[in-house]
Amino acid sequence: MTTSTEQPATSISNRRRGDVSYWSKTLIPTTRDAPSDAEMPSHILLTRAGFIRRVGAGIYDYLPLGYRSIQKIEAIVREEMNAAGASELLLPALAPIELLKKSNRDEAYGDQLFRLTDRHGRVAALGPTHEEVITELAKAGITSYKQMPVTLYQIQTKFRDEFRPRSALLRGREFIMKDAYSFALTVEGDGGLNEQYDAMYQAYVNIFTRLGLDFSVVEAEAGPIGGSASHEFMVNCDSGEDTILKCDASGYAANVEKCEIGERAHDLSGAPTGELERVHTPKMPGIDLVADHLGVDASQMLKTIVMAPAEPGDDKPDYVLAVVRGDHEVNEGKVRDAVGFGVELADEKAAKAAGFKIGYVSPKAAGLCKAVLIVDPDAAQGGTAWATGADEYDHHVKHFNWSRDMADHLAKSKIADIRNAMAGDPSPRDPNSTLRAQRGIEVGHIFKLGTKYAECFDFVVLDENQKKQTVIMGCYGIGVSRTLASCVEMSHDDNGIVFPPAIAPYHVEIVLMDIKKDDHRALADKLAQELADAGADVLIDDRKERPGVKFKDADLIGVPVRITIGDKALAERSVEFKRRGDEGKGEWTPIDNAVTACLDALA
Ligand code: ATP
Ligand code: MG
Repeated sequence: MTTSTEQPATSISNRRRGDVSYWSKTLIPTTRDAPSDAEMPSHILLTRAGFIRRVGAGIYDYLPLGYRSIQKIEAIVREEMNAAGASELLLPALAPIELLKKSNRDEAYGDQLFRLTDRHGRVAALGPTHEEVITELAKAGITSYKQMPVTLYQIQTKFRDEFRPRSALLRGREFIMKDAYSFALTVEGDGGLNEQYDAMYQAYVNIFTRLGLDFSVVEAEAGPIGGSASHEFMVNCDSGEDTILKCDASGYAANVEKCEIGERAHDLSGAPTGELERVHTPKMPGIDLVADHLGVDASQMLKTIVMAPAEPGDDKPDYVLAVVRGDHEVNEGKVRDAVGFGVELADEKAAKAAGFKIGYVSPKAAGLCKAVLIVDPDAAQGGTAWATGADEYDHHVKHFNWSRDMADHLAKSKIADIRNAMAGDPSPRDPNSTLRAQRGIEVGHIFKLGTKYAECFDFVVLDENQKKQTVIMGCYGIGVSRTLASCVEMSHDDNGIVFPPAIAPYHVEIVLMDIKKDDHRALADKLAQELADAGADVLIDDRKERPGVKFKDADLIGVPVRITIGDKALAERSVEFKRRGDEGKGEWTPIDNAVTACLDALA
């Protein structure tokens, strides 16, 4: 399903009094210059606006403004998690490596895992997430079915040694995450995993709606339980790293790894287009170079990827050959679903030893050994003048024809959707519609884990009938610091950040044109107190700076409403009122109306 927020909810809490801060007494080091390594708007603007500062690669300070915004996100996350029945706790960031060994994640996480050795030589990891730590805790604390279902969460710093930390808060090596874990005895029914998952799904919709973000919920690679067991929450934004595909007619939305493609006609019969023609194609890395050399388009080439079962077995073939059109990408998950077991790219050395001429493999290579051939419908077209590898180093062939050249092996083949979806592909949910592509930033991810971790930790509980049951888990993450950055990606202009009220560090900024005038200051204080009484957070710019500098900075830090106190308007018993994002100068409003005008603008 897709959810787009239409109206940002007001952020003014009726339960708390707002804060009043003075710019001169806090630390907001705004600058004109963008960091030299910054490309993304959130990186540039959060740094320039004095929200964050780089300490090292992927490591950032949160300055007062940045931390205020983070705390606002956290507060909404907490409220919604608590409302959904989850309980907050705090786990250590440091975990003995033995814990991660139990689930093999010390290996599976690879170089992303930060490891350290203490003075006694004991190895520990800085938590990238906390499945192991919480499973061990839950196992110790939950001994009866009567204590379930339960969902626990924390908001904490996570550590991942990202290969390429980039764009500051979007991909840090140290970042703030809300991670939640649910424990149940059944999948279906009252108190089962599905119920917990649905509650988290709804909590996430509430959270991102309240934060004022424009977001989509998309189906993501399913977990071991199958079905649509995983969803990602994506902020809609052209600068996002992730590709989302959507069918507007049906509301279907999925990330590119998961996205199904609708029916595509295929037909392996069809007459050859010419004699098989062998062409010398040495030293041409990449399909485009080869296609150029052959004088064909990449879409007229067949790409044959040599894969192997992730876990070999007698009941499985040694190799799986996945064939897609040259301009398409093989999707590992789809190949797995098509063959019914996990697959991975074959080890190159072993594949070469088995006779595959890696880089020059054609579908015919399926005859080399115990292999199955999976062909994507777009590649399974008989009448096309296909170019493909020649199963001989440095050579390709033209005019490959399925029925003529593959007659012996077609019995070993299967046609299935095995490629990544693209814009323009037929929708899997509506025969008359096509998929549309859009970019997004993953801010949340919910996942039905099943029994994976419970099995590793032998986490078994007696059910009502005194029968042992392995506990079924779900996990649910929100990138809190990434959410702040994606909000800025989604909402900024040439002058700076344009915050929705819920994430803004302050709701109202009062700019003093002349700080020497006591009556101006007194009015600023009075308005600020009234606003704070109504729940708004107020920043008073009382710096010894020119008005022009203050206006520029106000735009840069993106506070939703600006009130300016200056002589001209005051002579008319008015102040200037301006919404961030509105064009031009502000408008005058009577002093008596200023607080109402601000609150209306924030509602
Ligand atoms: P990605 O695909 O972007 O690397 P992920 O799928 O590995 O992220 P999860 O394990 O699902 O991340 O973590 C839950 C959430 O934590 C993500 O949805 C994202 O919002 C956030 N997150 C993950 N890695 C980072 C990071 N390096 N910096 C900031 N936030 C992150
Ligand atoms: Mg994820």
